[in-house]
Amino acid sequence: MKKCANRLHFEDFSFDSQQLALYYARLMKDRLPEHIEPLRLARSQRLMQGRLPLSRMPRLAESLEDTTGEINVELEFDVDSSGIPWIKGHLSCTLSLCCQRCMQEMLLPVDTTFKLAMIESEAEIERLGEEYEPLILDDSLVSVAELVEDELLLTLPIVPKHETQECHAVSIDNDPVEDIAETDNKSEQKKNPFAALADLKRK
Ligand SMILES: [Zn+2]
Repeated sequence: MKKCANRLHFEDFSFDSQQLALYYARLMKDRLPEHIEPLRLARSQRLMQGRLPLSRMPRLAESLEDTTGEINVELEFDVDSSGIPWIKGHLSCTLSLCCQRCMQEMLLPVDTTFKLAMIESEAEIERLGEEYEPLILDDSLVSVAELVEDELLLTLPIVPKHETQECHAVSIDNDPVEDIAETDNKSEQKKNPFAALADLKRK
């Protein structure tokens, strides 16, 4: 009896592990290759997940104060019902930019998604649905870092600036009077505890 129960358990387990093997065959986790063949990946409906160092993106690095971080990358490949092969991507990272108002570091959290239709020429752009950005393939091999870099470059603000309340330059440039008034107010507040103490002593 005991042996039988064990055997059943083993069968259940091997069934689960088969499912798991199928899942992992689609998902290539944490092993982002340098180059991919996106058309082939789309035909076999693959998922890809991993990290890329910012230091591998020289065009993006020109706009960065610090290139030590990493980007979390998720890429999914498939073909839609009208036969268009696509890449769906999700990128997240924090970019270190230079605020053009106070010239100090500005951290920009990036969390972006995109859907690229793989086409052979510009003439095909017209037949794409609105959900797609076109990706014209000149080669069957595509650099993953370049693909990710292109998408991150699109998320960069034209002129990076801190939010007004976070910028080091705003209080000086905009309204010096208000700034002084605020300082006065603060020193007033600092006096208040002593005044209150004096009041207590009098009682
Ligand atoms: Zn600033």
